[in-house]
Amino acid sequence: MKWSLRIARFAGIDVFVHWTFVLLITWILLTNLGAGRSLAESLWSIWFVLSLFVCVVLHEFGHALTGRRYGVKTKNIVLLPIGGVANMEKMPEKPIQELWVALAGPAVNVVIAAIIGAILFAQGKMQLPADPSGAINTGNFMFNLFVVNLWLVIFNMIPAFPMDGGRVLRALLAMRYDKVKATNIAAKLGQILGIGFIGFGLFTTSGWCLSAFLFSSARATKPVTNPPRPCCRATA
Ligand SMILES: [Zn+2]
Repeated sequence: MKWSLRIARFAGIDVFVHWTFVLLITWILLTNLGAGRSLAESLWSIWFVLSLFVCVVLHEFGHALTGRRYGVKTKNIVLLPIGGVANMEKMPEKPIQELWVALAGPAVNVVIAAIIGAILFAQGKMQLPADPSGAINTGNFMFNLFVVNLWLVIFNMIPAFPMDGGRVLRALLAMRYDKVKATNIAAKLGQILGIGFIGFGLFTTSGWCLSAFLFSSARATKPVTNPPRPCCRATA
């Protein structure tokens, strides 16, 4: 992988991290220090983001290992600042198989959230931190990791390409229509959702980013002849 560093190999699949990841870590460090936080608190934030990306890697392995059950190889998993990508050679032919492959990623985050939630509940710490947006400390760390895993599920299940939800939708449609028509409907819905998020984006930066991401991705998905690129994304 060009401009990427191999950091792990599991089940025969290499995990790469793209060099731009350094920019993300630097940005987090500088914004934390710039906000007047101590070096220790800033390092906690970085540790939190790295933990989040471990969850993203596990999400991608959910796709990859489920795909393998259906004979689909995954060339590698790449971590980018916006999330992870499992570079699968193709998507399974049968809609039911595509459905399981698409659902497997978010399902991993459901399991992680359930485990963290159970631990927090057992410890009597299942409550909002006093300052959820404040510095990430040991008290907030696990709760925030619980919350972001739930967000990963919600975000990825948005029914628009290239999100997992778009693939789930297409797989469900493909059970009723042919694949091209199913792809067209799912891609169109992605564009409509992208426009919808522009309204939401008038109020928040993340809304702008999301709408631009969905809209451009849905357009990039060539709807007429080619199915979408055979990869899956999980964005942080
Ligand atoms: Zn995914």
